[in-house]
Amino acid sequence: MDISQKIQKLYEQTGISPEVHDFGEKIEKSLKERFDKIDKMAELNQLKVIHAMQEARVNAECFNYASGYGYNDFGRDTLEKVYANVFHTEDALVRPQITCGTHALALTLSANLRPGDELLSIAGKPYDTLEEVIGIRPSTGSLAEYGVIYNQVDLLPDGSFDFDSIEKAIGEKTKLITIQRSKGYQTRPSFSVDQIGEAIAFVKKIKPEVICMVDNCYGEFVEEKEPSDVGADLVVGSLIKNPGGGLAPIGGYVAGRKDLIEQCAYRLTSPGLGKEVGASLGVMQSFYQGLFLAPTVVAGALKGAIFAANVYEKLGYAVVPDGKEERHDIIQAVTLGSAEGVIAFCQGIQAAAPVDSYVTPEPWAMPGYDSDVIMAAGAFVQGSSIELSADGPIKEPYAVYFQGGLTWAHAKLGILMSLQKLYEKGIVKEL
Ligand SMILES: *Cc1c(COP(=O)(O)O)cnc(C)c1O
Repeated sequence: MDISQKIQKLYEQTGISPEVHDFGEKIEKSLKERFDKIDKMAELNQLKVIHAMQEARVNAECFNYASGYGYNDFGRDTLEKVYANVFHTEDALVRPQITCGTHALALTLSANLRPGDELLSIAGKPYDTLEEVIGIRPSTGSLAEYGVIYNQVDLLPDGSFDFDSIEKAIGEKTKLITIQRSKGYQTRPSFSVDQIGEAIAFVKKIKPEVICMVDNCYGEFVEEKEPSDVGADLVVGSLIKNPGGGLAPIGGYVAGRKDLIEQCAYRLTSPGLGKEVGASLGVMQSFYQGLFLAPTVVAGALKGAIFAANVYEKLGYAVVPDGKEERHDIIQAVTLGSAEGVIAFCQGIQAAAPVDSYVTPEPWAMPGYDSDVIMAAGAFVQGSSIELSADGPIKEPYAVYFQGGLTWAHAKLGILMSLQKLYEKGIVKEL
């Protein structure tokens, strides 16, 4: 038996039928050029990260356990230099005390806005969890409760920035504008770093002192540049996504201008203490090693997303982004058109997981959602969405959103298994 036959046999043992496997092989062959480009991007970003670690003179002492106040926590302070090097910013705050992406964003906003200031979103409605942070949906401790004004400029119907309305919206009180790079779970396209750069340049021409913040979640290492390379004063993200590389067990980051990072540090710990306290409690090795792996992990996730787009597009389903489009984040949406389709897809993703593969996800009423939702995840880090994961609200248009995959081989297995389930249920009839 040659290696391909052995692989085929192992796929059969995991439950993938020869028809599904063959279909996948054909799609994969057609993607060779795309995948080569992604490998090049990973190489570029890998070198960027290694260079940043060398510049900051990372050594074994960086991985030591620090407890208590965390004064002179060398590993933590050096990691923040590494992040600042990667993002080409003056400074960074990267901590396990920042619990997730939402927290990193809430921290950055509350640290840099004062009562009477206006926060302006120029990319339409922000990510769901930020609605309570801002006070779009009333919540205890929201920015609105502290007298921060919120305004938003919706995107044009084609998903691009509405420059005329942005110009009109920027006023005397506008202190900080926010741009969300990834579409998250909306249907608009995600922004390229260049598009973000154009929007920032436009805003700065109107009001040079306005602070430009980018919600960078799901976007890190997808392109050769980051928003901080095109004028963003602050970039913010989650270590349970791309830059954690699947290894960071918790965390968030903010990278940007020194004075603005100091505001964040004073808000995270306390006025006067700032970055000086906050022990890293033994997570540093996973933060460093996760960042080191992140460019190749993101490449695997991107290949998975592109593979899925092409598999399901070929079978006649609507996919966003489509099979050929440039990628600006790692999220893939597939409209399956029926509840059975969404459920079968998610059950396939679950069945392919290294952890909890034997459980069968079912739709459930989740807090914050207006329909039942099915979620599939078998992750090493709870809730991690850089690991292969999928979820689908059980409502029109019956779309699933999926992302991640720590390796391309795993992402491929997950997608083949989703197809297997659709095929077994007779939802996909012919391959
Ligand atoms: C995931 C995400 C967030 C929130 O991050 P969490 O780590 O889930 O809190 C914010 N914005 C965008 C665009 C995201 O994708």
